[in-house]
Amino acid sequence: MILHGKPVQERVLAEVKAGVDRFKAARGVTPALAVVLIGGDPASQVYVGHKRRAADAVGIVARDELYPQGLDQRALNDLLRSLSADPGIHGILLQLPLPKGLDEAEALAAIAPEKDVDGLHPTNLGRLLAGEPGVVPCTPSGCLEILDHYGAKLEGAEAVVVGRSRLVGKPLAQILLARHATVTMCHTRTRDLAFHTRRADILCVAAGRPRMITGDMVKEGAWVIDVGVNRLETGKLAGDVDFESVQPRAAGVTPVPGGVGLMTIAMLLRNTLAAAERLLGGGAAELRGRSPRSN
Ligand code: NAP
Repeated sequence: MILHGKPVQERVLAEVKAGVDRFKAARGVTPALAVVLIGGDPASQVYVGHKRRAADAVGIVARDELYPQGLDQRALNDLLRSLSADPGIHGILLQLPLPKGLDEAEALAAIAPEKDVDGLHPTNLGRLLAGEPGVVPCTPSGCLEILDHYGAKLEGAEAVVVGRSRLVGKPLAQILLARHATVTMCHTRTRDLAFHTRRADILCVAAGRPRMITGDMVKEGAWVIDVGVNRLETGKLAGDVDFESVQPRAAGVTPVPGGVGLMTIAMLLRNTLAAAERLLGGGAAELRGRSPRSN
């Protein structure tokens, strides 16, 4: 089976749109997302444009904070603190990577945790580790949304995560653990990668190495989530999974493009609505997206 992201994305966006409509009707306030882009990286400009349009489509106001000439660290921290204190802003998205010379960890820590819709503030990552409600990073929660949508069983499953970044691998492993999978994490120092991947009922790959996971490295009937997005010399996009050889063996595999990538913005908007509900007091949806157990 091909685990297309589109139907999952559409369902999440429809839920967010309905939630935004309810929120506006109940509170008379429109959820607002500040989109902060430092520098003139063309790829980041494209991503920010996608995020803004997706926010518009579900009724969330996106306020652009664009600094194409750059900002120094102090000015960036001040900007993030002032957006954190602004009652008219409910979510803050800092587009990464930052230009050279700026410290991402320092900038992320300047965002109020309750407005950190990317879930990358140390407080939110700590809450994820502690199993407490908090904002869950978008790409990993998008992976879970796909697994749940297509009916993968997580409890008791052997889950293997390839990649241990702060953005994807580490939070994804924590979410899988919270859902009672038995989790193994692999990285560049893992001695025998294929030994681990062949044991996986759930295999999630976020390494940034085109087509590194081949069919012989995958267990028959495994669920394979390909987070990787790699631009080949031909200009085409490829995932970290060799789709052609893996698909015949797997219970399901996400395509690239068309899989996990579609989920990230949807989860960002879900986190923004949840942040607005939390800040202004929400209804039943308040906890949605906050705890890995609620995904
Ligand atoms: P990253 O920060 O570069 O981390 C890559 C991780 O993979 C590292 O932990 C690294 O191990 C590990 N790794 C690299 N080569 C490996 C190998 N040959 N064997 C085993 N482990 C290996 O990357 P990231 O930000 O997590 O992103 C990973 C991929 O996901 C990229 O292709 C990125 O473009 C994509 N991505 C997609 C989305 C989306 O929305 N679809 C969102 C975020 C990222 P070490 O720690 O030992 O170096």
